[in-house]
Formats: sequence, structure tokens, C-alpha cells
Amino acid sequence: MLSKCANPGCPAPFLYLHQGKLFRVDTNSEVPATDAAAEGRRKLARRLEFFWLCDQCAVLVTLSYKKGVGVTAVPLSSTQVSRTEASNTQTLVASAG
Ligand SMILES: [Zn+2]
Repeated sequence: MLSKCANPGCPAPFLYLHQGKLFRVDTNSEVPATDAAAEGRRKLARRLEFFWLCDQCAVLVTLSYKKGVGVTAVPLSSTQVSRTEASNTQTLVASAG
């Protein structure tokens, strides 16, 4: 279960649900339903994992799930910066003839 912030570099302990951001990741897609049924274990049929980001990390990073890799922390600022730079590079040319 949850014990600390999902950001590997953050030691913040998980204390309250209303703090930070809670992520629910369904890893069911990794296991084929037929295999799970063959094993006769319903518990393995659906795997829900919960991850939590503290207040500070929730504004800096988000979580993304990749098959075979798991959940990784992705910085939010990188995408925002690139958008800002793109808009700033537009040169406004207004020549009133
Ligand atoms: Zn954190």
C-alpha cells in the first residue's frame, strides 16, 4: 500500500488523503483475462494500484504508466516551458503602411 510520495526523490510520508494527489492505476491490461481465469485466481484478474504525490510534488510532476516499466514521475514544467518558448518565438510584425 501507500507509504510515501510516489516521487522517488521525495521522502514525504503519506498521511492524509486530502493532501496531495492520488493516482489509481489499473494494471489489469498486462495480464490476459484468459490466463487469469485458467489459474482460477480472481484476485489476479484485476490489479489496482494506488500512488500518491505530496502537495509539493503534485504541482511539479505527474505520474504516467508504461507497460513493462511501471509508474514513473514525469515533470510537468518541461511541457509547459516548451509551450511558452514556442509562443514567445513568434515575432509580431505590424507595419502600418
Ligand atoms: Zn513528494
